[in-house]
Amino acid sequence: MWLLLLASLGGCRWFAVPPQLPVASSIALDELIVYSDFELPENHRLLRDLELLRTDVTDQLSVPVSDEQIQVYVFKTPKRYRKFLREHFPDFPDRRAFFVETDTRLSVYSYWGDRIAEDLRHEVCHGYLHAVVPEIPLWLDEGLAEYFECSRGDGGLNEIHLEQLLEAKKEGEWRPDLAHLEQLENVSDMHQIEYAEAWLWAHFFLRTTPARKQILQDYLTQCRVRPTRSFSKGLLKVEPDAEKNLIAHLEMLKETPSLFQNQPDVKILEADRLE
Ligand SMILES: [Zn+2]
Repeated sequence: MWLLLLASLGGCRWFAVPPQLPVASSIALDELIVYSDFELPENHRLLRDLELLRTDVTDQLSVPVSDEQIQVYVFKTPKRYRKFLREHFPDFPDRRAFFVETDTRLSVYSYWGDRIAEDLRHEVCHGYLHAVVPEIPLWLDEGLAEYFECSRGDGGLNEIHLEQLLEAKKEGEWRPDLAHLEQLENVSDMHQIEYAEAWLWAHFFLRTTPARKQILQDYLTQCRVRPTRSFSKGLLKVEPDAEKNLIAHLEMLKETPSLFQNQPDVKILEADRLE
């Protein structure tokens, strides 16, 4: 999963001559146009999922619905996808999917593989976010994408990240550090553990108390008007024990994951209410 901002490059050079783009078939879905080099059934569950994701993202984050188009390119095979990547984005690392933002376009690229649903949810989530919060800080952008990439029934519970954080905590190799996350400006600076922590913060804000959810929503509103990187300072003023409470939330997820799973609609849990 890869996010690259190419604003300084402009859009034309990359998109004017895209001979291998998979555009044999296309399906328009609200903000999305899904192109593929094979026939994708219009009523495929994956496509309905991406439509529902738009509602989930805008409702849960209380951001406006954008009409900015997002192009999604799905190659039939990894071979075709990688060939395209080598020719058009030779400096990109080898990832299953990625999101590109230029001055004029929001685009997602991927291929039809076992994890296409998760990959598209993640990358399209970046698209939905950047359409309305172009200056969203990296840690939050990735944390929310990791949250929303989970299937709806999982309620944002990313078990791989949960396991990794629990293990790293047990080994004394990790503790929450939001100020550190905020300093990260490039995807290449983010390691797996930082993706995991960013996801946990997203889950903490969206799935614990209405007050925390409001803090996140207010911050996103602020980012739309005046980009800022001082989220952690503001948070610690309102909730000085936020990082300790994040650990408590992690433990709760370990003990009672079912409280958060299999609930298609977001349910606010009051168990670790703000003091
Ligand atoms: Zn991402």
